[in-house]
Amino acid sequence: MPPQSGPTTRTQTTAGQWLRCEGCGEILYRKTLETNFLVCPRCGHHFRITPDRYIAVLLDDGRLEELDANLAAADPLEFPKYREKLKEAREKTGRTDAFAYGRAAMAQIPIVFGIQDFGFIGGSMGSVVGEKVARAVRLARTERRPLVIVSSSGGARMYEGIFSLMQMAKTSAELGLLRRAAVPFISVPVDPCTAGVMASYASLGDIIISEPGALLGFAGARVIESTIGGKLPEGFQRAEFLLKHGLIDKVVTRRDLKDTITALLNVLWPEEKRG
Ligand SMILES: [Zn+2]
Repeated sequence: MPPQSGPTTRTQTTAGQWLRCEGCGEILYRKTLETNFLVCPRCGHHFRITPDRYIAVLLDDGRLEELDANLAAADPLEFPKYREKLKEAREKTGRTDAFAYGRAAMAQIPIVFGIQDFGFIGGSMGSVVGEKVARAVRLARTERRPLVIVSSSGGARMYEGIFSLMQMAKTSAELGLLRRAAVPFISVPVDPCTAGVMASYASLGDIIISEPGALLGFAGARVIESTIGGKLPEGFQRAEFLLKHGLIDKVVTRRDLKDTITALLNVLWPEEKRG
């Protein structure tokens, strides 16, 4: 039997084997949750998952032929503590920065796949993330492979100041060229995807798909409320709200994510277009 849930605590981890659902408060056995795509079987709450899990869930044979894995950020502004932050994040995630990309396949369709790591300084976009996104887009264009990017980020990386902000323009410009080349881009922003990333490439998909309950937006709700001097509607910035208002195209459960994307790719990129 699972341990009884405490009435007030918001702690997620109990004894390591058990997790408290943030959606319904139920105590869930970690192994059961793992076989269910880290989705609560009771209420459907989608727990955040790591890039490696998305790779396993979405890509054929769970395989990404990663490129530029060692591209590492400099510290152009000599921002206090940035080097320490980078070191900590590298040790924690085993990555040099918050984005991975490369060639992959989904249901045997060759694609370029990119994924952001929210665990690496909040998935923030500095010069390395921006450069890798731009290279992923360029690879998709030159090799004529559809592009799929799963984004999760708090926005631009403040430690790199303007070098971070200019990545918004750079990635958007590359996507403009991809669009001109008529190669499709499916953007999959997942919880949470906000600020400079949501305001650049994550919003520029030909098709934008998210997961249930994902927080997607630009400024935080509190900032907006204090700016407009009023209350925001219920569910504001959640995937379902954005779907209803036309900012994204589809909300699908994690279990159906791969089938949904491949069904779209089969329409957008039929066999005769593949290299
Ligand atoms: Zn639940």
